[in-house]
Amino acid sequence: MHRFVDPEDGLTYLHSYLWPYYANRILPSFDQPNLKANFSLRVIAPDSWTVFSVSPGAAEAGTDGTRLWTFGKTPKLATYMFSLHAGPYRIWSDDSGDVPLRLMARQSLAEFVAVDEWFAVTRNGMTFYEDYFDIPYPFEKYDQLIVPEFNIGGMENAAAVSFAESFIQRQASNRQQRERRASIILHELAHMWFGNLVTHDWWNGMWLNESFATQMARLAMVDTTEFTDQWHDYFTKSKKVAYWRDSRVTTHPIEMPVNGTDQFAMLFDAITYQKGGSVLKQLQHRVGAENYRLGVSNYLKENAFGTTELADFIRHQEKSAGIDLGGWSDEWLMTPGFNTLSVESECNGKLLSSLTIVQSATAGQSRLRTHNVEVALFNPDANGNLIITTSIPVLVKGANTQVAVPDGQPCPAIVNPNHNDWTFARITLSDADRTLLSEKLGDVEDPLSRSMFLASLSDDVAAGGTPLAAFARQALRLAEIEQNYRVLEQISASLVEAVDMMQRLRPETDEVLPRLIDDIEQFALRKARLAETQDVKQLWFDIFLQVVSSEAGLATARALFDGAVDIDGIEISPEIRWWILTILSRHDAKDVAELFAAEIERDPSDFGQRGLLSAQAAAPDLANKEKWVTELQAPQELTSFARQEAVIFNLFPATQTEQQLQVLEKILGSLPEMSKDADSYFLTSYATALLAPMCRPESSALMQATLDEYGDQLNPTATRFLREAHQADVECHALRAAQ
Ligand SMILES: [Zn+2]
Repeated sequence: MHRFVDPEDGLTYLHSYLWPYYANRILPSFDQPNLKANFSLRVIAPDSWTVFSVSPGAAEAGTDGTRLWTFGKTPKLATYMFSLHAGPYRIWSDDSGDVPLRLMARQSLAEFVAVDEWFAVTRNGMTFYEDYFDIPYPFEKYDQLIVPEFNIGGMENAAAVSFAESFIQRQASNRQQRERRASIILHELAHMWFGNLVTHDWWNGMWLNESFATQMARLAMVDTTEFTDQWHDYFTKSKKVAYWRDSRVTTHPIEMPVNGTDQFAMLFDAITYQKGGSVLKQLQHRVGAENYRLGVSNYLKENAFGTTELADFIRHQEKSAGIDLGGWSDEWLMTPGFNTLSVESECNGKLLSSLTIVQSATAGQSRLRTHNVEVALFNPDANGNLIITTSIPVLVKGANTQVAVPDGQPCPAIVNPNHNDWTFARITLSDADRTLLSEKLGDVEDPLSRSMFLASLSDDVAAGGTPLAAFARQALRLAEIEQNYRVLEQISASLVEAVDMMQRLRPETDEVLPRLIDDIEQFALRKARLAETQDVKQLWFDIFLQVVSSEAGLATARALFDGAVDIDGIEISPEIRWWILTILSRHDAKDVAELFAAEIERDPSDFGQRGLLSAQAAAPDLANKEKWVTELQAPQELTSFARQEAVIFNLFPATQTEQQLQVLEKILGSLPEMSKDADSYFLTSYATALLAPMCRPESSALMQATLDEYGDQLNPTATRFLREAHQADVECHALRAAQ
C-alpha cells in the first residue's frame, strides 16, 4: 500500500497495488490467482477521507475524528484484484445505464482532470463491451482512481481501477495524450470481464489476459472514439516493439511454464502484450470476426467467477468456428520467434504470370507457420501514384506458397505480402523494391502499406544495410510531403531513433551528425510553426525537443523557456519547462543551478520535484553521475519508485555514453547485491536505462564478464536485462562499420 503526501497542500493519499503477488503484504492470504474468495472489509479512517474498494462502502461516524467504513461482501475474486484506496480525493460522479461511475484524483490536480472526456470514453466503452461480450458489467459500480506515484499505467482492480497521473496534463491535452488516455481506460475496463470475471488459473495464462485486453481496447477505440485507425497505430508502435523483443536472446514463447513468482518479470513484456495481441488478431482472421466474438462470449459465460486454462479458451474458439486449432496453438503460442515474408514474381511481357510468397524463419529459429494474409499488388496510376490494383486473401503455408493470380493482372510495381497487417510476420523487400521505394515511397497510396514499407527499410538500417544518416535523410524528405498522421508519427520517431543511435556511434558519425541535427531541428521548428493542424504542430515541437543539441537549437530552447520567443499554438507548460531545463542541464548550461532554484519555487508540486530530479541527473559531470548511481544503489533521498525513475531515465542520455562507460563497473558491480532484495520493477528500470548501449568493445566485455562471474547470483530479472543489454551493445557496435 503506497502512501503519498502532497507537497503542495500536505494532504495524504493511499492506494493499494497488489499485482502480481503483493496482496500478502497487506492481508494474510494464499496469494495466487487460482484461489478465489469473497472479501469483506471494514476500515477506520480520518473523517475527511473517502475509502474505496471493490464493493460500495458506507461510512458512519466514529470517535476521535474518524469514520467507520463498511463494504459489502465481494463476489469471488483472486487476491490481486482486491483493492483499498483512501484519502481526501476529489470525486466526480456519473452513470452508465444502471452502473454508477465515479472518477477520483487528488485535490491539487482536480482542475486539470478531463472529467467529461473520461466519463464519455468509459460510458461508450461499457456499452461496447456489454454488447460484444453479451454480458452485463459484472460488478455493482465502477470507480476509477487517478493515484499519485503509481508504478505502472493502469491496474484493473475489480470495480476500483487505478491509473497513473501521467494521464493528467497541466495544460490542454494533445492528440497523443488523449489517445493514450482512451486506450488505457478501455484496456482496464475490458479486464472487468476478461481477467476479473474469468481468471486464468496460473501465471502462465496471464498473457491471454493482457493480450486480450490489448486487442479489445483497440476494437473499442475503432468503434467508439475519434481514433479509428487503431490497427495502423498498432503496427507502427506495438508490433515494432514486439518484433524487437522477439529478436532478443531472452525471447520466449507466449505461453510458457512459470514455476515461481520471481519469474514474473520475465513474462510480462512485449511478448505478452503486443505479440500476444498480434497473434489474437491473426486468430480473429483465422476463425472469422463473428465466430471469434461468439467464442469469447461463450467462454466468459461458462466460466463466470471461475478460473480457466488456455485450452478452455481455444475450445470455445474451435466450437464457434467449427475448426481444429491444436496446430495453431502450438505454432503461435508455444514457439518463440517470428517469420518473414517476401515475394517472388514473374511477368510475361506486361502481365503477371506467377506470384510466390516465400516464408523464412528469423535467425536461431526454424519454425515456419501458417498465416492468413491478404496480398496486395500495386501499380502506378495515371498520376504516378502507386495504387492497389488487386488484393487476394492467401493461406501461407511452408516455405513457398503459390498465389492464384487473376487473369490479365498487370505486372506489379511492388507487392505487400501482409496487406492490412493481419499476421505477425515482418516483410522483407528485394533490392529492386528498395530502389523503387527510395524514390516512390511517398507515392504509395495506402498509408498502412507506406508504414509497412518504411518499417522494412528501417529493418535494413538495423541490419547494417543502409547508413543511419542516409535513412534519416530519406525520412526527412518523406516528412515534407506526408499527410497521414500515423505515418508522420512513424517518420518522426525514426528520426529521433536515428539521431540517438548516431550519437552513440560517435566518432564514426562525427562528419554527418551535426549537419543532420541542424536540419532536423530547423525542419521540426518550421513544422511546429507552420503545420496546418494543432496535432502536427505539437508532434514536431516534441521532436524538436527530443533532438535538439546544436548550439543554435539550444539557444532557441532557452529563448522559449525565457519567453523571449514563442511559437503560435504551442504552450510552454510546466512539464515542458522542466523538459527544457533537463536539456540545458544535459548540455552543461552555465547558469543551470540558478534556473533550477527559480523553477522549483515557481512549480513546487510533486511533478516539479520530479522535474528537478530529472534535470539534476542530466548534468554531464562524472561526479554527478557517480553520486546518483550511489543513491540508486542504496536510496536515502529517493524514497519512492517514481522519484527513482525520474533520475534513472535521465542519467545517461545518448550524448553521455563516455560518462556511462566510466561508471559502468559501478553499475554492474551492484547487481548481485541488488538481486537479493530489489523489486523487479526497480531492477527492470535500473538495468534497462543504465545499461543502454555504449556500443564499444569495452562495454560489451564488461557486461559479459559480469554474466560469467556472477550469473548464478543474479535473480532472473537482473540476468534477463543484463543479457539483453549485452546483446544490444554488441549489435550497436557492429553498426559502426556501416556508417
Ligand atoms: Zn492489462
